Amino acid sequence: MNKHTLLLFDLDETLLGSDWFKNGLIQTLGIHSFTKKLDASLFLERKLNVPKSLILPFKKREITPLEFRRARWRHAFSHFDVTPEVELLDELDALFVKTGMSCIEQDPSITHLLFDLTEHYQLGIVTNALYDPRQKIYHMGLSEVFPDETVFDADGLGYRKPDREIYSAALTHFHKTPEETLFIGDSWIHDVAGPIDAGMEAIWINAHNHSPLSDHSPFAIVSDVREIRKLLLPPAILPR
Ligand SMILES: [Mg+2]
Repeated sequence: MNKHTLLLFDLDETLLGSDWFKNGLIQTLGIHSFTKKLDASLFLERKLNVPKSLILPFKKREITPLEFRRARWRHAFSHFDVTPEVELLDELDALFVKTGMSCIEQDPSITHLLFDLTEHYQLGIVTNALYDPRQKIYHMGLSEVFPDETVFDADGLGYRKPDREIYSAALTHFHKTPEETLFIGDSWIHDVAGPIDAGMEAIWINAHNHSPLSDHSPFAIVSDVREIRKLLLPPAILPR
């Protein structure tokens, strides 16, 4: 097949879409007495449109993930002229995590793909996810494919993609060289340029036909992660 023996995956928007976030938030707003009467779709729109003034300090680590999560809630609430106490923000966030995680559904085509890949490769996850990736993986029915020690999350490790350290942590765990490793994900900066700069090759999941942001050259470009089957697995033997 090829020289790669380790596949490192991004999680959000690569293996898991964003429906859980949207459905989880809408349901949370409908459950909690403080938010019940708010326009849930408008709130969702505000929550998804995070201003750069919040993202930049988070990326520069000037604010913690917890502070960033609270700031996102505050930003959405500000549209409704509401300024809840921090305890209420944390309560809503906890309810959202519980509700959101229960909205995650197993996707048989993804599950089959990953189980088939485990026959030929070692597999890991490297993620900047804001919400517990291991819980997401559990609800996706993938804990067997990605046991806890194979999940490298920015929140737990203290560095984020495209920091070199987060890729190195994964390689060290698997005792692999960058040359043996293929990174697969939807973010040009985090999943293509970062890994290539760290000596790996990368497959870019480009679902929305974006233009590359630099002159890095990926191993392949696909529009959906399921397409990697034909690139990384031997052709299926059809029953006679
Ligand atoms: Mg992603």
